[in-house]
Amino acid sequence: MPVSLLSFCYLIACIFFIIAIRGLASPQTARQGNILGILGMGIAIIATLSSSAVQEIYWIIGAIVLGGVIGIFSALKVKMTSLPQMIAAFNGLGGLSAVFIAIAEIISGSNTRLESTLGLLIGAIAFSGSAIAFAKLQGIIKAKNITYPAQHLINALLGISIITLTIQFVLFGNIYVFYWLTLISILLGFLLVLPIGGADMPVVISVLNAYSGWAAVGIGFSLNNTLLIIVGAIVGASGAILSYIMTKAMNRSLINAMFGGLGKNNSTNQNLSSSDRTAKSSSPSDAAFIMENANKVIIVPGYGMAVAQAQHALKAMADDLIKKGVVVKYAIHPVAGRMPGHMNVLLAEANVPYEDVFELDEINHEFATADVAYVIGANDVTNPLAKQDTNSPIYGMPILEVEKAKTVFFVKRSLNSGYSGVDNPLFYADNTLMLFGDAKKVTEEIVASLEN
Ligand code: NDP
Repeated sequence: MPVSLLSFCYLIACIFFIIAIRGLASPQTARQGNILGILGMGIAIIATLSSSAVQEIYWIIGAIVLGGVIGIFSALKVKMTSLPQMIAAFNGLGGLSAVFIAIAEIISGSNTRLESTLGLLIGAIAFSGSAIAFAKLQGIIKAKNITYPAQHLINALLGISIITLTIQFVLFGNIYVFYWLTLISILLGFLLVLPIGGADMPVVISVLNAYSGWAAVGIGFSLNNTLLIIVGAIVGASGAILSYIMTKAMNRSLINAMFGGLGKNNSTNQNLSSSDRTAKSSSPSDAAFIMENANKVIIVPGYGMAVAQAQHALKAMADDLIKKGVVVKYAIHPVAGRMPGHMNVLLAEANVPYEDVFELDEINHEFATADVAYVIGANDVTNPLAKQDTNSPIYGMPILEVEKAKTVFFVKRSLNSGYSGVDNPLFYADNTLMLFGDAKKVTEEIVASLEN
């Protein structure tokens, strides 16, 4: 394929990618966005394989088939609730491929030392950071923030040695310095993500996603491949914008998120004595009675709703209440569930009207005028310690102020903490009633009571 045709194909692929990302911004257009992304990638792969630079095509086709089979298998098998782990794993693999390409380039004597080194550094941090994020999300290691003495000093020393060794390698090209750089960057990735607590994982995932994009940019420059540079920049920039949105939503600093400074040292909740820890439980029929006699009910969905797949039962409950003249609204926290937009997607699947779904800023003031807050499988996103306890790992995160409603129902199976590992004092509040059980089952029982 002539170079001009190859460049043209790359340009078309990039246009597809940009429109695809635009489409992914809303649940209504996401499917279309996904299809455009697949088409763009198809064009990019075919054009690259037809270029004169590709010599060992059978190896490449073998790798594509292997990667494709693993990708299709994982996409079919992975549950919606495990998608964040899958994203973390894919970010990590993107970073790892940047590491391998950079090593191959340097070993083959390429004179793009600076570009390859930058691709390697960012790729290695994205790889090891994503490995820790994956392990935390999968429950292989505790999601709580794991801290160690002098963590910032150690990270700073590693950062300084990376800068020094990079300058040395770019100037003198000693391959052993390059290998040391690889090892130190991988170690830094581990140490940056290890201290970050569960509640801050959404920010970490989007930052790592941005890193994998910028690693591809570095590698694109060292391979002199415009497609990699553009696509890497799209991923890097959109990941950076998402990180910015997430840090805003979580009231965190982007600089801290990028350099692993989100972790807090002290855990919390020492202020709850055992006498404070008496939770009142209620029954689905009582909940149905209280809600059908309410004027306004605000529903707060969380990760447990996703696990129980309770969105359809929830919609049926809301429909029954609306028929009885109750105003029903849905309040969505930006990090509810385990991925950005998780709750919106599930509610859209159950045909909840978009106009009934409100973001935190839009609805928080309404809890004070609500008769009932129906918190279904949500926990961290309602925890008032985020406002009160400066030592808490979730301190500073904005929360849905459900405690201001006259009655708060928490639908969950136990008094266990949420993903952050921080106990929620609201379970023991005077106006809280616990509805213990699986979110779908409890909500179906409420529907049955409402309909009798
Ligand atoms: P949480 O993880 O705080 O709480 C979910 C609750 O659901 C648990 O306490 C659990 O309690 C309950 N639950 C689980 N299964 C069921 C079930 N079948 N039926 C009823 N209840 C169930 O979720 P939130 O949505 O409130 O907060 C999300 C957390 O995840 C935040 O800390 C956020 O930072 C973090 N996170 C978010 C990401 C994102 O992008 N949105 C990505 C990564 C992390 P019990 O066991 O007692 O039933």
